[in-house]
Amino acid sequence: MSVPVSRRSVLRGAVLLGTAGALAPAVPGGPAAVAAPPTTGRTPATAAALGRVDQPVIANCATWGARPPSSPVSVVENRPSKIIVHHTAFPNSTDYSLARAYANSREIQDLHMDGNGWLDSGQHFTNSRGGQLTEGRHGSLYALLHGQTMVQGAHCVGQNSQAIGIENDGIYVDVQPPQALWDSLVVFCAFTCQQYGIPASQIYGHKDFASTQCPGLLHDRLPELRSAVAARLG
Ligand SMILES: [Zn+2]
Repeated sequence: MSVPVSRRSVLRGAVLLGTAGALAPAVPGGPAAVAAPPTTGRTPATAAALGRVDQPVIANCATWGARPPSSPVSVVENRPSKIIVHHTAFPNSTDYSLARAYANSREIQDLHMDGNGWLDSGQHFTNSRGGQLTEGRHGSLYALLHGQTMVQGAHCVGQNSQAIGIENDGIYVDVQPPQALWDSLVVFCAFTCQQYGIPASQIYGHKDFASTQCPGLLHDRLPELRSAVAARLG
């Protein structure tokens, strides 16, 4: 993300204002609520099995030790139309363990809640330098597995109720991400495109919508990412 303080204030305001109108009534965002049985009759396994891209391992909020949201997350009653790729701009760790991935998710959530004043992590999902995927904002994984709704994010002004945000740990202005991160980004995007019916062409970078360096060199590789995702979708 790496947004300046002034932009954070703007973003926070946009998120709050953006909850009016098109959104369904807010639902509790805690782990218990996320684990509630589906109301559509489609189980996550059924939804995932409909496509040819297998569901990757994505650790949910309870698994990595997320704090509960400070207020309920909002569910948007439409499918997202795009994916937006970010980098965290955190230092490039050489610890590629699952424990580091979980700790990173907690650090992002702390920054977003305590620093930015947001109700929860801003992004929907996080990808570690070791290639481990985690849920960001509560409810994002449940929504993805059912493929019909999304939770309102806080990762890109103007796109938070129509774009899934994926944060890639690290800063890639001068260096490329580890291969493991790239590979899991491809898998994540392919699965997300499948679940929501998003064309591979609709994968963007943060800088397409804001004045920011994010996601660095990953932005230059968006054509490669789209091609790799399209190949997986078949
Ligand atoms: Zn960003």
